[in-house]
Amino acid sequence: MAQRDPQASADNIQWWRRAEQVMPGGVNSPSRSFGGVGGGAPPVMVRGDGAWIVDAEGRRYLDYQAAYGPLVLGHAHPAVVAAVARQAAQGVVLGATHPLEVQWAERIRLAIPGMQWVRLVSTGTEAVMSALRLARAATGRTTVVKFQGLYHGHSDAMLVKAGSGAATVGGGTSAGVTQAVQDEVVVLPYNDASAAARCLDRRGSQVAAILVEPVVGNSGTLLPHPGYLAHLRRLADRVGALLIFDEVITAFRFRWGAVEQEAGVEPDLYCLGKIIGGGLAAGAYGGRTDLKALLAPEGRVYQAGTHAGNPLAAAAGLATLSVLRETDPYLKMAELAGMLEAGLRDQARSQGVPVAINRKGGMFTLFFTEGPVHDAEGAAAASAPQFHAFYHHLLAHGIYLAPSALECWFVSAAHTADDIERTLAATGGALAAAARAV
Ligand SMILES: *Cc1c(COP(=O)(O)O)cnc(C)c1O
Repeated sequence: MAQRDPQASADNIQWWRRAEQVMPGGVNSPSRSFGGVGGGAPPVMVRGDGAWIVDAEGRRYLDYQAAYGPLVLGHAHPAVVAAVARQAAQGVVLGATHPLEVQWAERIRLAIPGMQWVRLVSTGTEAVMSALRLARAATGRTTVVKFQGLYHGHSDAMLVKAGSGAATVGGGTSAGVTQAVQDEVVVLPYNDASAAARCLDRRGSQVAAILVEPVVGNSGTLLPHPGYLAHLRRLADRVGALLIFDEVITAFRFRWGAVEQEAGVEPDLYCLGKIIGGGLAAGAYGGRTDLKALLAPEGRVYQAGTHAGNPLAAAAGLATLSVLRETDPYLKMAELAGMLEAGLRDQARSQGVPVAINRKGGMFTLFFTEGPVHDAEGAAAASAPQFHAFYHHLLAHGIYLAPSALECWFVSAAHTADDIERTLAATGGALAAAARAV
């Protein structure tokens, strides 16, 4: 039997100590810290392959974090690796229009016909921030309506009552966001049709855009009530505001294209990120034809980027979209996540732990609460101590989740039925640990 090298076994903690010395909180993105799971030193990850991720001590974990969403094909998919390597040898950034970025934009437009034009950027944050600038220019208005607990990146206006990692700072509003910026943002409860109607009745003439995740991934998974998105579409039309769908998590997650195509509600602008970059840094926005002419250099709305449309990201993104197109893994991902959901429900019932599970396709969240969970308030009502106990038991048994109760599990195309069995073999004990943690 292989023995662990005693030197190597200190690696996680040594790297973590060095990380804490040089980077605030030891991380470059707050949600990677263990603040959301009761503290501790996170394992330091050195590589991934398929559905697995490997820490600095050689310990292997089944990975349901998927880097917070991009890795729909799992880690180091051979087609993605080959495409990136091929392009890297040809130059990693060229500072001019490149054939791969043209093909990338065309592929996105083909998959999402409502995106009649595409502007590529480097992050989801930039996609949303830029789409809002465009909406304000198009309408000549200032106010943005968004929803409590959703996350749209870390631009100033989007850090008013935000979800995801930002929900752990005071009320989701970051220090350093000025009062003037806060006054330009209205935050409503998600899934509350009458709150939206009342707000738009009162302030509609000032509203540039209604911005929403059509399926939410940042207060854990939240699903829109039937008719809710159509209601937002009608309200936007009534007051002359733009409807913006932030599909950074959802696009290409449940189907070839956007969630919008299933909801039957078309926004004026879409924001994309995560999966479209195939694991490299990427984002995109686009939508209605007439809005294209407002963007520089055609128009007067400025937005730029040294790495926008980056050839490496284009190579990874195109390769990922091609594999998704050719293999259509969506039904399989949904079935595997369905097995996991059913198993978790059975185990929770037999342990006497109340849980609510929200799932769409391969994405879901288990909340330690009676539920149902329809909004940020419901998600926040879940038991923190139970999640912490559940999380650490799973980590110790080789199952890696994002370290927060407000994130999702992502079943990727690389997961197998065996992986689900292996996971369920660990979750029974994790739920028992949660049962003891009340
Ligand atoms: C992750 C995310 C963003 C931000 O994307 P970054 O690439 O991290 O800047 C924006 N909106 C949603 C819905 C997200 O999930």
